[in-house]
Amino acid sequence: KFITFEGIDGAGKSTHIVYVAERLRQALSSRGVEVISSREPGGTPLGETLREVLLQQKMHLETEALLMFAVRREHIAQVIQPALERGDWVISDRFTDASFAYQGGGRHLSLDKLNALEQWVHPDLQPDLTLLFDVPLAVARARLDATRELDKFEQEKADFFADTRNEYLRRAAEFPQRFRIIDSAQSIAAIRDELDGIIDALLL
Ligand code: C5P
Repeated sequence: KFITFEGIDGAGKSTHIVYVAERLRQALSSRGVEVISSREPGGTPLGETLREVLLQQKMHLETEALLMFAVRREHIAQVIQPALERGDWVISDRFTDASFAYQGGGRHLSLDKLNALEQWVHPDLQPDLTLLFDVPLAVARARLDATRELDKFEQEKADFFADTRNEYLRRAAEFPQRFRIIDSAQSIAAIRDELDGIIDALLL
């Protein structure tokens, strides 16, 4: 199975990925199934190099979108597709929904262009499950300020995060069969309870 984790910066998804990956590993190792934990932008040596460029350098919006999909093409070819063909599971910290949310919602690149890139790069591949960690902007902001320095994307104005969040929610409504929205303002314990239920259902 292919599971993706999404959410605006500060939604807390990174914490929960580690938990889900560990639980899945424990459950699947006896079946001889590996769980590969990956991320975008990144996921391959080339992708990690391009991640640095994407996070540090200012560039034209379309250049940014094209690079995100270039990273994704490599990630699918080198990691995701081979793993799924072996019968292993892949969990990715962000995937194409992030391009729609950030480059589309946040930065207003046309959704037609994003749809065209998606059709080019992965016409037949979609996540089996997408966990959207959703929080009100004020909560996300407070978490980010408390923990670390902001990167170039995170310094952008609040409007940007509102538009990004809204595009995530719009996609969740458009593809309800694969999306699960997690209220990420809850305590970590409450979120883990919810994740446990989702994981148990996946393992049936
Ligand atoms: O998920 P993570 O926080 O590692 O993502 C790194 C940065 O890349 C984030 O600040 C996010 O805003 C940005 N990003 C983006 N467009 C994407 C994916 C990530 O702007 N498609």
